Amino acid sequence: MAGFPAAVEQADVVVVGARCAGSATAATLARAGRRVIVLDSARFPSDTLSTHLLWPATVAELSRLGALDAVSALGAPALTHAFAAGSGYTIATPFPEVDGIGYTLCVRRTGLDHALVRTATRAGAEVRQHCRVTELVWDGVRCAGVRYTGPDERTVELRAALVVGADGRRSTVARQVGAETPYEAEASGRDCYFAYWRDSAAEWRSTAAQWRVGADLGTAFPCDDGLVLCLVQPPADTGKLRPGDAGRRYAAALDRIPPLRERLRGCEQAGRVRAATRIASYFRRSSGPGWALPGDSGHFKDPVTAQGIRDALHYGRLLAEAVAPVLDDPARLDRAVAAWERRRVRECREIYHWTNRLARGTAMSPLEVELYRAATTDPELAAVTTGIFSRTRRPAELYTPARMARLTAGALWRHRHDPRPVLGDIAHELAVAAREFRTSCTTLRGTPPVTGTSTA
Ligand SMILES: Cc1cc2nc3c(=O)[nH]c(=O)nc-3n(C[C@H](O)[C@H](O)[C@H](O)COP(=O)(O)OP(=O)(O)OC[C@H]3O[C@@H](n4cnc5c(N)ncnc54)[C@H](O)[C@@H]3O)c2cc1C
Repeated sequence: MAGFPAAVEQADVVVVGARCAGSATAATLARAGRRVIVLDSARFPSDTLSTHLLWPATVAELSRLGALDAVSALGAPALTHAFAAGSGYTIATPFPEVDGIGYTLCVRRTGLDHALVRTATRAGAEVRQHCRVTELVWDGVRCAGVRYTGPDERTVELRAALVVGADGRRSTVARQVGAETPYEAEASGRDCYFAYWRDSAAEWRSTAAQWRVGADLGTAFPCDDGLVLCLVQPPADTGKLRPGDAGRRYAAALDRIPPLRERLRGCEQAGRVRAATRIASYFRRSSGPGWALPGDSGHFKDPVTAQGIRDALHYGRLLAEAVAPVLDDPARLDRAVAAWERRRVRECREIYHWTNRLARGTAMSPLEVELYRAATTDPELAAVTTGIFSRTRRPAELYTPARMARLTAGALWRHRHDPRPVLGDIAHELAVAAREFRTSCTTLRGTPPVTGTSTA
């Protein structure tokens, strides 16, 4: 419980969290003429536990936000080509264009998030750093503001028409509104271990590359400061992470992916290995009277498809656009945040399912191998696969009946001496597709369940 507030202030919107979702929401609202105060317990520039591949769709969001010049100035190379290899097949494609941007970037979070904070400030939002929100202020069932502790240890009460919880996976706002327990969740089958290397492979500096060997998955993304980010995602280890385990598991996974080791030949590791384990993808109830949860606070997808930063920026901006004109009318405001939440659920459920498939932590199935094989000679198929990550294409475009029939026929032909693995795979995929369909039509139909609202 925070101490008695020494001061009470008023704003139109208070945003908790100043990184992707928070800065996008705040910059957009400030440009619409609203008084926005952003609170973050961090002091920027500040790092966070996250890799940072930014697909063309994410770069396009940075551009819409007015942050792209500052991000580009950090010097990350433009990655113009996607490379994915597995089971002896290689798919290589250019990236699709989104709003005229046809490249991917990989920018370390310290610089990226600082550029976002500066963008929000320039737009007119007031960003208060080193300020930790400890509790919400309620007016009956309506969220009416926050209490926070600033750098001087004073407790301040900040009242606003809308409290935006852009405070990440361990969101205080989600906890205090009673939305912490997701209404839909799926545990990841993979862990994440990553480190930076001084990149000496000039020929790879414009390529975002991924390799799959057995159940392991590894990536190499050239980033700013002449580094390459190398992330491995082996099957999840249920054991507790003890000191030294992250480095050991990282090195062991690299050894199991020889082409990635080869990519790093001549490169020197710069800094320690970082780990994110026990990951789960989820949807939380994300709107209610006087509050909303854009970004990871309300919805998270496993990092295997690198969608989080784009969605935090995108749905932060859309939230701001939806509420800016109606902040002075509580009934219209509540309808606007509810409609915003329904839109996010509808638009994200397909990529959520797709991400969970890739996060299974299993080796490539016969149908996946067949997909890779077919994509090596079918540019349209390769383009669909790359486009799904940039949200220019939908997973449904990959799973058309005609394409599935062709892939199945190809896989059966290649396993004609023993078709059982293919038949098993088909049965499994049909069961997964049926479960996804059911979830999309029920839990994720776009009207999230009502959760208890705290009035503490
Ligand atoms: C291992 C890993 C790898 C990833 N790789 C990628 C990738 O390659 N590409 C991609 O697009 N996405 C990636 N993601 C996802 C991405 O990190 C998130 O989706 C993104 O950071 C979400 O942004 P956000 O603004 O919602 O939250 P965050 O970035 O988590 O920011 C939350 C902010 O809230 C502040 N805060 C929290 N509580 C309080 C409080 N009580 N008071 C004040 N401030 C508070 C924190 O200090 C923090 O600054 C990855 C995630 C992980 C875990």
